[in-house]
Amino acid sequence: MMQEINLTVKPGYVKAYQKGYPLISKESVVDWTKVKDEGTVILLLDNRKNFIAKGYYGKQNKGYGWVLTFKKDEQINVPYFIGKITSAIKYRKDFYNDESTTAFRVFNGEGDGVGGLTIDYFDGYYLLTWYSMGIYRFREDILEALKRSVEYKGIYQKKRFDTKGQYLDEADDFICGERAEEPLIVKENGANFAIYLDDGAMVGVFLDQREVRRTIQDKYAKGKTVLNTFSYTGAFSVFAALGGATKTTSVDLANRSRSKTEEQFFTNGIDVEAQDIIVEDVFNYFKYAVRKKLSFDLVVLDPPSFARSKKHTFSAGKDYVKLLKEAIQITNKGGVIVASTNASSFDMKKFKDFIAKAFKELNSKYSIEETFSLPKDFRVNERFREGNYLKVVFIRKLS
Ligand code: SAH
Repeated sequence: MMQEINLTVKPGYVKAYQKGYPLISKESVVDWTKVKDEGTVILLLDNRKNFIAKGYYGKQNKGYGWVLTFKKDEQINVPYFIGKITSAIKYRKDFYNDESTTAFRVFNGEGDGVGGLTIDYFDGYYLLTWYSMGIYRFREDILEALKRSVEYKGIYQKKRFDTKGQYLDEADDFICGERAEEPLIVKENGANFAIYLDDGAMVGVFLDQREVRRTIQDKYAKGKTVLNTFSYTGAFSVFAALGGATKTTSVDLANRSRSKTEEQFFTNGIDVEAQDIIVEDVFNYFKYAVRKKLSFDLVVLDPPSFARSKKHTFSAGKDYVKLLKEAIQITNKGGVIVASTNASSFDMKKFKDFIAKAFKELNSKYSIEETFSLPKDFRVNERFREGNYLKVVFIRKLS
């Protein structure tokens, strides 16, 4: 059994934990000095030594650990993880039964009761992502629980917890079963994605945008010119093209984005030659577009929360208004901007304030057509709403 250590919760935080708040923050505990090793099981007590919750110590940017149970006698072992995983699977039953979508999230951290761990499904393969050394220390039990809970072709992992925020463990992400093809072709609402389970930190697609991609394909793409900025492997461009866009333009500064995007078009039988793929800093591209008097019917903005390029530093919290203003200027009247962010530092209300500000400063008018947050498989903990980081707004430019 793992070592258990008692920690006293500061009075101001006791109520929140009693109500089910799952994140163990640094500030909420009186004294951390007793806790040395990540993965240590910690018992949260009030100042009269009454039990509140049991969790583990694991450092993430979000906090110092996660609550795992509110039952004093529950042990954190294989049966515990089997319980969590099987209920997570039950919650995604519709996804398992849907043949047109073979890539989805099976286990979403604290949304499914274990913060710091996600499990994604890719056509029979499972990918575990560990977000702290602490949760990684439970690896054997979690793996055993997963193996006993599902049928799988193979199991892979990503470690996302080194100190510098870099992806270090590139050597081998394969754990057991059979190795997946490279690329592995998975489906999303009938479209194809070429993904790589063992090729660096990311597999090639962000599953949380599924509904946004489908909406673009079904309702906004037909007959339209589309600019997809921060395009990565071009997923939005693919769905726009499948939805009948007259042309897509994908812009990303990473060199790999060109071949990756070509591959996604090719995998979906789309004529690559008819599309533009541009490897460049988005902010330079905006200047170029203005100079050349280029404009688009649909503009997708999906920047990382924070990025540094040679010339620019972009932080969603500080610079989204500026980004929107650049986009508004090259969007046709009557056209649509899909503004997306995964920044957890601000909420939907604040994001809508950014939108209002950008249009106001340009004396332009708009209407909000629809909004999206995380899809069902990215289950959110009711007591931890900030876990619903995704905010997507479809904005129509009226004037
Ligand atoms: N929209 C993508 C995901 C974006 S990931 C999708 O749906 O799959 C963020 C991408 O932004 C990365 O590929 C990164 O290379 C790119 N990026 C970061 N800063 C950039 C900049 N200044 N100009 C262009 N691309 C940038």
